[in-house]
Amino acid sequence: MAAFRDEVAIVTGGTRGIGRAVAERFADGGGTVIATYHADDEAADRTRDALAAYPTETAVERCDVTDFDAVAAMFETVTERYGPPTILVNNAGVMDNGLLVRMTPEQWRRVLETNLFGPFYCTREAARSMLRNGGGRVVNVASVAARRGWAGQANYAASKAGLIGLTRAAARELGGKDIRVNAVAPGYTDTGLLEDVADYETLVEDRTASGRVGTPEEIADAIAFLASDAASYVNGEVLRVDDGLLG
Ligand code: NDP
Repeated sequence: MAAFRDEVAIVTGGTRGIGRAVAERFADGGGTVIATYHADDEAADRTRDALAAYPTETAVERCDVTDFDAVAAMFETVTERYGPPTILVNNAGVMDNGLLVRMTPEQWRRVLETNLFGPFYCTREAARSMLRNGGGRVVNVASVAARRGWAGQANYAASKAGLIGLTRAAARELGGKDIRVNAVAPGYTDTGLLEDVADYETLVEDRTASGRVGTPEEIADAIAFLASDAASYVNGEVLRVDDGLLG
């Protein structure tokens, strides 16, 4: 598999869950991969070891996506070391659930800053570089929550709905410059994030076609498709990967 041989891919939150599977998918396809993370050094070390097994250039870098200057510095470092990024996957995300009437401004702010401001900062840097260097692809990791809006997730649903808006606007703005911007909207996926979701097993059993959660690799395959040349005529799209959860 060599679909990503000439690519330099940045995957935010690439050290756990879906992001880690995406980073491995690109490395398996021969791409240069930079997986970023926030705080969990042990997960970063494990990912560094896993990526080192692929015969391609890989790196794991700490970068808080909520920090505008840190994001700019990370893009600069990547460009210096590996060349300009051709693929960005805005995957880093957090959940901080609570009923609306009890949700604190801090809960609201943390989720919006990570899930929406972060992708804006990263897309802004990526687009500036891709505009100078002949194009690229951005894939945003949204969620079924953007459309369904589960109770207790006002901040999360708003952040992911905002991310879909960002996806569509950026696709229109950048499409003429050979930059495609798409999103995936995963359903329940087997990662650490699910620990924060009460009673998801019942929902999965009742509402998905096969009655099981998705694997990070199944989401990574959809992201890889959108980032690949196979999706050359797909732009501004939101691809649901949810086993019919919202169908
Ligand atoms: P995980 O919790 O397993 O992984 C999250 C990753 O994001 C980690 O690498 C984490 O780094 C990183 N991260 C968190 N905050 C920041 C930050 N401020 N700056 C940089 N990196 C950060 O989550 P998932 O793999 O489940 O989720 C990945 C994406 O998929 C998220 O956007 C999530 O909303 C979305 N999603 C997930 C679903 C699911 O069911 N799992 C369903 C729908 C969407 P560190 O470990 O260092 O904190």
